[in-house]
Amino acid sequence: MPQFILLGLVGLLGLAVGSFLNVVIHRVPRGESLVRPGSHCPHCGNEVRNRHNIPVLGWLLLRGRCADCQAPISARYPLVEAGTAALFVAVAARFGWSWELPAYLYLAAVSIALAAIDLDVLRLPDQIVRPSYAVALVLLVPTAIFEHNGEAVLRGLLAAAALYAFYWLLALVPRGMGGGDVKLAPLLGFYLGWLGWGSVAVGAFAGFLLGGVVGMLLMLFKLANRKSRIPFGPYMLAGTFLAVFAAAPVADWYASLLAPTA
Ligand SMILES: [Zn+2]
Repeated sequence: MPQFILLGLVGLLGLAVGSFLNVVIHRVPRGESLVRPGSHCPHCGNEVRNRHNIPVLGWLLLRGRCADCQAPISARYPLVEAGTAALFVAVAARFGWSWELPAYLYLAAVSIALAAIDLDVLRLPDQIVRPSYAVALVLLVPTAIFEHNGEAVLRGLLAAAALYAFYWLLALVPRGMGGGDVKLAPLLGFYLGWLGWGSVAVGAFAGFLLGGVVGMLLMLFKLANRKSRIPFGPYMLAGTFLAVFAAAPVADWYASLLAPTA
């Protein structure tokens, strides 16, 4: 299949998945069902018409307001849909038609839901993190068998154990990591370890770098102080994707700094 068809199909899939993620982001922290009732306006309770339920376009058609009560609809809905589509396309460009593609698309979807929920309520819900371990194993272990790549699974498991131990230690530090971060770390470790040790190093380091830079900016602009609880999940997830896309170039650049004359 030509690359552009794959990217187009995966982009459309991303829009549809993003639409579902909006439901997940809104309902999972409230303990509500994902299937029932259908989408409704949180303000007036009226059901959203089918044509307004189309990802991104629906929100634009409505100009960001409920068709019935005119209450504003958050711009986050179309942003999550467009963002999921963009991340899906990037993942498809990175992996192409491969056995790994579904596994990393699944990680992309879960990452967007977890990052948004952590920003909203400072939690990484077990209902999302726990099944993700099973899905990762179900998608990647057969891949390893087909491709005779047992090494990747072993490396993934070792990296999962290493990141778990690392985050577990950090959770012992006062005001350190939260329990949700500790439970998420091995999942990201498995996905990064599958790709290689360079990815594990870049992913873990990038999370702290991003979190540190954003934390400092928030304090600089007085949007946070030393006592603020800043969610760390979004940085762990962003660092992971940075490594998925750019571990090899980043590792080369770092090596060139260490040996500038080489
Ligand atoms: Zn309404």
